[in-house]
Amino acid sequence: MFGPSLLTAKASEEVFLEQAGRDFFKELGLRTFINAAGTYTSMTGSLMHKEVTDAISYGATEYVNLDELHDKVGERIAELLDCEYATVTSGAFGAMTIGLAGIMCGMDEKKVAQLPDTTGLKDEVIVQKGHSIGYTHALINTGANIVEIETAKELEKAVNDKTAMLWFLNANTDNGEIKWEEFVALGKKLNVPTFIDCAADVPPVENLFKFTKLGFDLVCFSGGKGIRGPQSAGLLLGKREYIEAARLHTPPRGTTIARGMKVNKEEVLGMMVALELYLSRDHQKEWELWESQIKLISDSALSVKGVKTEIHVPPHANHVPSLYIRWDEKEVGISTDEMRKRLRDGHPSIETVGNKEQVGITTWMMELGQERIVAQRVKEVLENV
Ligand SMILES: *Cc1c(COP(=O)(O)O)cnc(C)c1O
Repeated sequence: MFGPSLLTAKASEEVFLEQAGRDFFKELGLRTFINAAGTYTSMTGSLMHKEVTDAISYGATEYVNLDELHDKVGERIAELLDCEYATVTSGAFGAMTIGLAGIMCGMDEKKVAQLPDTTGLKDEVIVQKGHSIGYTHALINTGANIVEIETAKELEKAVNDKTAMLWFLNANTDNGEIKWEEFVALGKKLNVPTFIDCAADVPPVENLFKFTKLGFDLVCFSGGKGIRGPQSAGLLLGKREYIEAARLHTPPRGTTIARGMKVNKEEVLGMMVALELYLSRDHQKEWELWESQIKLISDSALSVKGVKTEIHVPPHANHVPSLYIRWDEKEVGISTDEMRKRLRDGHPSIETVGNKEQVGITTWMMELGQERIVAQRVKEVLENV
């Protein structure tokens, strides 16, 4: 519509003021909502703190060399997280693709350009069956194949001269026989690099340090979940050798599989600042806040006859105080689907998760005070008013 840089100072100030008052989502006919669900991509993940959006705005005002920026921020993040090296990626998903690609091709630019054709390259990734969910698509994007195993014995047998990597999905730790230490030990024994997907595993903050220390060669996190950085950013941590090789697949280099996984300077800065901010938070206090918020909503739901609640904390991934609300449909007179629809259609709109048996609520992605609105709306809807 206009190029602000071409306007006079006065005119550009007017544009800014006009812009500042714009309600873009409303203009577009979109409804915003209270996020009582969690860090879902479909709900745009998490909200960024002002320090993060300030860093993003700052980044938009100057040019820098993209590789130099990545180099410096990689060093800074590695120092913050006490690991060998790090890089900001396009989400945890992008981290998996470039991490594996880095392992497959090393620093050989011919091989980098060759992917997704894996002729002559190691192209098998071993995954426990219980960890083999849709996110492995990030790995097969390189051209590699997934080999599923269940036991340590099967894993040892599956390793051959085509084996590129062993991949572990932290969220599904309990669905696999092999746990972290043994997995890492197998990788070392068989001389195959190990990668752990920890996309949704912050909090606890300790996880940002734990898995590189345990000996995983590569570890990834989502930027826009618990860390509350840019939704499309992520972190790849671990061995410098592999991360430097992974970077060869990313922009500014163009003839690579990850050319579309660009992380712009604004997001690189936003991710760095979000991480700094996250590390400096009072995690204990934040946890206590979530617990009290969940209890408030639980108590409110329990005040309706026939309603039961369960407060729980998932052991791996989305490890935060969470609430299930269940009830006897005959007694309460509403289904879980209807309940969720009424919360969504109400004022303000509230998004939850759930299935036929229960409605699920978390408060960690809410703005302070919204828990009271949710507590009240839950009771109102259950009472059918
Ligand atoms: C969210 C998630 C991803 C994808 O992360 P992005 O940061 O959105 O790319 C991958 N793996 C798991 C287990 C996740 O929860």
